[in-house]
Amino acid sequence: MVALLYPPRCFLCDKPLPEPDPICEECADGLERFRGALCVVCGAPVPPGIDLCRGCAVEPRPFAYARAVGPYRGGLRTLVLGLKYGGEYALARFLAGLIAEALPEGADLIAYVPRDPARRRHHHAAELLARELSRRTGIPMGQLLRKTRSTPPQVSLTHEERRENVQGAFAARRKGKGERVVLVDDVYTTGTTVSECAAALIEAGFGEVSVLTAARTVAGDED
Ligand SMILES: [Zn+2]
Ligand SMILES: [Zn+2]
Repeated sequence: MVALLYPPRCFLCDKPLPEPDPICEECADGLERFRGALCVVCGAPVPPGIDLCRGCAVEPRPFAYARAVGPYRGGLRTLVLGLKYGGEYALARFLAGLIAEALPEGADLIAYVPRDPARRRHHHAAELLARELSRRTGIPMGQLLRKTRSTPPQVSLTHEERRENVQGAFAARRKGKGERVVLVDDVYTTGTTVSECAAALIEAGFGEVSVLTAARTVAGDED
């Protein structure tokens, strides 16, 4: 992986770069971002004039809102996978810069979805992103959550199975005093994991929880 950075080359198109940036300007400009109407709660793309997606209309979420940079496909997906499997710090810095655009006012702490103890083989993308977001914003990062048990990967599960899979699987490491928390993860899929994490934080006494992720799966895409 070192060869990808020295000499600096674009992580996406392999073009040599004048600066040690992770991707070139053209690829950065070409990343697909969410631009249109979004569900005010979970950040899913919705038709213009609609406030809530179907899911959020029927089911309250424990977090204030969730926002992702763009859909989990194309260049953004390649960058997230590079972070996870290559542990590229330069990618974490770059993605944290994009995530920071949706940062809520007055956040007190940055937290991240904890890694599953059974999956230590990969880099922990959520933690890398949270660390860079903290560095960039000056908002302290806290290791606020832990997993109470290992859970199988969510990938092949239905929405209902995902919920059962992670139910009660997270707990706060300490009591909160109403601090407003930004919860970071790499990809938002159905929101069950971040919902469990947010609920655990609120139960422990933390204040409003907002969720920021690098990418989000959208209806019709495979994850
Ligand atoms: Zn490029
Ligand atoms: Zn929604």
